[in-house]
Amino acid sequence: MVKAVVGANWGDEGKGKITDMLAQEADIIVRFQGGANAGHTIVNDYGKFALHTLPSGVFYSHTTSIIGNGVALNIPVFFKEYNDIVSRGVPAPKILISDRAQIVMPYHILFDQYEEERLAGKSFGSTKSGIAPFYSDKFAKIGFQVSELFDTDHLKDKLKRVIETKNVLLEHLYHKPLLDSDELLEEMLRYRDMVSPYVCDVSSFLWQAIKDGKDILLEGQLGSLKDPDHGIYPMVTSSSTLAAYGAIGAGLPPYEIKKIITVCKAYSSAVGAGAFVSEIFGDEADELRRRGGDGGEYGATTGRPRRMGWFDCVASKYGCRIQGTTDVAFTVLDVLGYLDEIPVCVGYEIDGKVTTDFPTTSLLEKAKPVLKVLPGWKTDIRGIRSYADLPENCRNYIEFIEEQIGFPITMVSNGPGRNDIIYR
Ligand code: GDP
Repeated sequence: MVKAVVGANWGDEGKGKITDMLAQEADIIVRFQGGANAGHTIVNDYGKFALHTLPSGVFYSHTTSIIGNGVALNIPVFFKEYNDIVSRGVPAPKILISDRAQIVMPYHILFDQYEEERLAGKSFGSTKSGIAPFYSDKFAKIGFQVSELFDTDHLKDKLKRVIETKNVLLEHLYHKPLLDSDELLEEMLRYRDMVSPYVCDVSSFLWQAIKDGKDILLEGQLGSLKDPDHGIYPMVTSSSTLAAYGAIGAGLPPYEIKKIITVCKAYSSAVGAGAFVSEIFGDEADELRRRGGDGGEYGATTGRPRRMGWFDCVASKYGCRIQGTTDVAFTVLDVLGYLDEIPVCVGYEIDGKVTTDFPTTSLLEKAKPVLKVLPGWKTDIRGIRSYADLPENCRNYIEFIEEQIGFPITMVSNGPGRNDIIYR
């Protein structure tokens, strides 16, 4: 069976933990989109890890971890991460890399930095991992697939052609040093040697795996609201964050995705610019940020403090719907145990009218939160393993939110570890 683990919100919902947990029962874990621009934090028996490109199944020796064609593959970052986990005692994971995955080129990272510099205060808050330039080139059809690394003459020729246009921008728009195609070719040949043991026709591998009845997990990065089509455009990422894209970015039939587990955090956090209706500020935000996640809400890639807010039912209901959710995994609930009262955003007021439908970006900018305040439970719920043992106010919080979003919360996560989970 194929399951997808995806985010309902702005990312950082705890997908890594849920994937790591579900990977215990899986045979194959596939990354199908995104790149090294966001991170998962995973706490398990080997320690605490921030993964950016490795699939969250790499900690189990019974799983195969796959980089699908939809990923923006940063080859040096990928192997650095691989070597890091192995040097910390994790058995060398079984890895496959799609021959159709495209490569983040060194100049994609440079262009990302230069463009942020050029936009200065008007920037999108990019992590400068080269993701937007990468996907722009992919769809402009001047990207490089992994398979192209294995034809040196072709590579040489294409690099020359592509660099011609890049150098015009570097010289006249950014006023930066020009690219040298010989140097880049050498770098590409190094990349070729790094990936060559792992390259495979992933869609055909998965086709066979489905026929053999294997359990496959599709691991999403970021969340619904960062999707370029259905999110808060243009403050979005450059590849689709939706489970549906799992079929494309892994290369498997869409009807095979039977379960869509949407991870939804018990409060809100976001990184980068853009409207964030339930955002809170000052001491209230600082406290939640400090207590949030596992060691504070700071970017796993950038270390940037995340923007904080109360749970947003409007955004989460939409985020779950657009994913095609079958199950909600409600995470980081333990963090809220310090609050006497917990505000929840139950509607948006836009031009004097209250709605529970998530609007397009221009209206979103005008939205003000309609808050409902629920009583807190004022205890530490970590370690509880059965739903009935949760404090009543805590169950009421979960059930209130479940009703508001309209999708079943079947898992409640009450701690960062693999076993901190309550099934309903
Ligand atoms: P992802 O990108 O969706 O995987 O999310 P991140 O890894 O950026 O953020 C999740 C953070 O919360 C990590 O530090 C996790 O270890 C932590 N985490 C996940 N689930 C829980 C939970 O239920 N409780 C607590 N306290 N922390 C959690």
